[in-house]
Amino acid sequence: MNKIEHIGIAVSSLETAIVTYQKLLNLPVYKTEEVASEGVITAFLQCGPNKIELLEASSDSSPIAKFIAKKGEGIHHIAFEVDDIVAEMERLKKEGFVLLSDVPKPGADNKLVCFVHPKSANGVLIELCQNASS
Ligand code: ZN
Repeated sequence: MNKIEHIGIAVSSLETAIVTYQKLLNLPVYKTEEVASEGVITAFLQCGPNKIELLEASSDSSPIAKFIAKKGEGIHHIAFEVDDIVAEMERLKKEGFVLLSDVPKPGADNKLVCFVHPKSANGVLIELCQNASS
């Protein structure tokens, strides 16, 4: 894997979290985007080579709504950039990791993504992401 691409943070209110994180990092949100298939609205800040992804639930059945109900706001996942997501998924499957989907799915910010179950990674939800254009 190449680097940490972004850290995903589950928030109750995107509007107030955007104000907070723009102040905290002294950087602007460069994109907000709804990913309807995942039940989330996202906002991205670029901080050096890495990004912060703020995630708000867009419905009560959203995984983010469930996460916040269970654990409260906080770090939701860590995303790693990969060059070949299909090859990386195959490698991880062979190593015994549990993936949350069998094929890569379209994610926010022009990525193909796949998640690794937190049970496979010491309680941390891991996202693999590959630029959809590459
Ligand atoms: Zn993410």
